[in-house]
Amino acid sequence: MRLRRTTVLIAIMSISAVLIADGHLSGILADSPRSQATELANLAGRLGIEIVTADPVFPIATAHGAIEGRSADPDEIERFAAIFASEFRRYPAALMRKTNLKRVVLCSELNFAAQRRTVIPDFDHDTLYYDVGRGSYDETYVRKVIHHEFYHLIDFCDDGMLYEDAAWAALNPAGFEYGSGGRNAQDMGGTSLLTDKFPGFLNHYSTTGVEEDKAEIFANLIVAPEYVAARIRTDRTVESKSKRMKELMANFCPSIDAGFWPDSK
Ligand SMILES: [Zn+2]
Repeated sequence: MRLRRTTVLIAIMSISAVLIADGHLSGILADSPRSQATELANLAGRLGIEIVTADPVFPIATAHGAIEGRSADPDEIERFAAIFASEFRRYPAALMRKTNLKRVVLCSELNFAAQRRTVIPDFDHDTLYYDVGRGSYDETYVRKVIHHEFYHLIDFCDDGMLYEDAAWAALNPAGFEYGSGGRNAQDMGGTSLLTDKFPGFLNHYSTTGVEEDKAEIFANLIVAPEYVAARIRTDRTVESKSKRMKELMANFCPSIDAGFWPDSK
């Protein structure tokens, strides 16, 4: 499936609800004594993006269905913001420009086309939506999701193709065919747990589609580098995919060089 990018951006946020690029903040976090506000404001300023923490506007119409959600509880925002800032801080501003990411919206009860989602990359409006409550019981999962979904934006921007990558698929064991896509495994227990049960893949979720396979390699190279390194020692396919991912990223954005990837030792 090929997605078409629209170039029309819709201004959907009131100024009081966003962190704007110069680091200004006025929103629910501004009043919190435990506030991540300064951290988020600095991050937004450095990356040149908006981070929306209050009063997000819904629904958002996209070419593929409506995005729905609502304002999140300030305490949930606070918890998520700490994790989000520590993960997004890894990225250079150059990567934001390459992906055209303009805005990150932190919200709750996130839905896409009436299906509950943890994260939605909105290619039509250069926006990433994060449900700050779902999955918050597992911090490592949240950290991976942050990178996994951002990678979908990268994957789309590098060649306009999300659901096809013949060169990547050719790295798979002979005869392997991907499943029916990540959406059909969203609620399957254990689908994203790291395991060596699927040779050539990091987990079950990676087997559901080439786009999920790539996003899982990307996210785990950042959040679980020791696990990936251990798999590489016995799995040539995982090794090839890790190498290919680093090549793809360096080609897409030269700032993502060897120094970007966390040490696996
Ligand atoms: Zn995904």
